[in-house]
Amino acid sequence: MRRAAVLGGSIAGLLAARVLSDHADEVVVLERDDVALAGAFGGGRDPRPGVPQGTQMHALLDAGRRRIDQWFPGFSAELVAGGAALADTGTDVHSYLDGRRKVLVGGVEMVSATRPFLEAHLRRRTLALDNLRLVNGRVRGLTFTGDRVSGVRYAGAGGEDVLAADLVVDATGRASRIGAWLTEAGWPEPPMRRMHVDLGYATALFRRPEGPHGATLAQSLAAMPDGRLRLGTLGRVEGDLWIVLVAGYADDRPAHGIDEFLLRCAQDPAAPFRQLAEDAEPIGEPVTYRHPDNRRRDFHLLDRFPAGLVAVGDTMASFNPIYGQGMSSATMHASCLESYLGSGRSPRDPAWSYFKQVRAVVDDAWQTSALNDLKLPHVTGPRPRGFKVASRLSDLIVRASVTDPVIHRRFLAVAHMRSPARTLMRPGTLLRSARAVRRQTTTPAEARLDAAV
Ligand SMILES: Cc1cc2nc3c(=O)[nH]c(=O)nc-3n(C[C@H](O)[C@H](O)[C@H](O)COP(=O)(O)OP(=O)(O)OC[C@H]3O[C@@H](n4cnc5c(N)ncnc54)[C@H](O)[C@@H]3O)c2cc1C
Repeated sequence: MRRAAVLGGSIAGLLAARVLSDHADEVVVLERDDVALAGAFGGGRDPRPGVPQGTQMHALLDAGRRRIDQWFPGFSAELVAGGAALADTGTDVHSYLDGRRKVLVGGVEMVSATRPFLEAHLRRRTLALDNLRLVNGRVRGLTFTGDRVSGVRYAGAGGEDVLAADLVVDATGRASRIGAWLTEAGWPEPPMRRMHVDLGYATALFRRPEGPHGATLAQSLAAMPDGRLRLGTLGRVEGDLWIVLVAGYADDRPAHGIDEFLLRCAQDPAAPFRQLAEDAEPIGEPVTYRHPDNRRRDFHLLDRFPAGLVAVGDTMASFNPIYGQGMSSATMHASCLESYLGSGRSPRDPAWSYFKQVRAVVDDAWQTSALNDLKLPHVTGPRPRGFKVASRLSDLIVRASVTDPVIHRRFLAVAHMRSPARTLMRPGTLLRSARAVRRQTTTPAEARLDAAV
């Protein structure tokens, strides 16, 4: 292939570009923000307009981290050398359910860093590839030749221009205009499925020399006395900076202001959050973010689609961010793209085999996210057949993972996207979970989860 064009230079776009660089003479990444290494956001210190979620807590799960290390050897080590934390579930990643810390089990490592830092490192490695260049421009649409996409229309420094390409990869994120670009040319729009979860985030930075309660990264899921579900994550990021997220659903979304933020931390039954509220030094005000819905574009349901076009990352699917699946999903989409390109199929045919493979990846992440989100009373559904049973079984496993190391290890493998979600439903795992739970007492969060189903 002579040239591939990647639309959007964020995590999914950069990973797709890395994969394409092995298969195309030239890869051009078109990005509307000035993210060139010497550009306004090139250093990666500040969140940028094109990635508004960049202000919020972002952790890189084990599956994504491992995959990136294969494409860019030494990537995790570079992040750590730059000040990020590589936290291990066997020692310093602490997960709490209703204030009770889960048993520690090793084997899973995740990166804790600010999102701009992570992206800047990935960009630096990607832009170091010889056959790749970045163009600062806003994509306006696609160009077509017969039944295939032949390029991109964009507005750059010199005005409107067209970039010819043999393959176009849409990585412009969840608000992608791919549907409109297709319908403008007489092609059907990919059906979009949405699940309204109405999640509110607030993220703040703190300065603190050591981890609260020995944790480099702590996660908390807790039912409050009024039954509402609260979520929190804190992690050491660059140097002695700590990033802290508090989250709630619907009318329990966190409000603006550091006082409310610290109150939420103090109310959290997980000890690291309470300790942080007492003795950490806040840096500036928390930034809030609203995630209205999970969404996926089901390209595989179309019966007509042009050749020379694929999509990756949040354009394909964007999930409830609390599960931290987005960037690791993007690595998996890039893996699907790699195997599609390696299969020798011509970009002059529609990429059905790519969409088939990526659908399996999306289905798995969607299942994890949707199963948990549908347990929330304000999420309207529709709830699939068998939901009640699946939901009870998943609650059982979550409870068992608090005390049973074998179940926790299996749970982490799925949560970190190293094993498919269905592996948790094996009879041996369910039986062992039931036995583990029988030996425990019931907490308010568990009682609340029971009441919701
Ligand atoms: C609040 C929140 C917290 C999250 N936390 C985590 C987490 O902890 N872990 C995790 O793995 N994931 C997390 N995610 C998900 C993660 O942010 C995304 O999955 C990840 O960034 C991959 O997205 P993407 O590259 O597909 O799209 P985006 O990151 O949204 O990037 C799209 C890019 O396309 C560019 N663009 C858009 N339109 C155009 C155009 N017309 N022309 C040119 N360029 C264009 C944008 O400027 C941007 O650079 C979180 C998401 C949210 C909302």
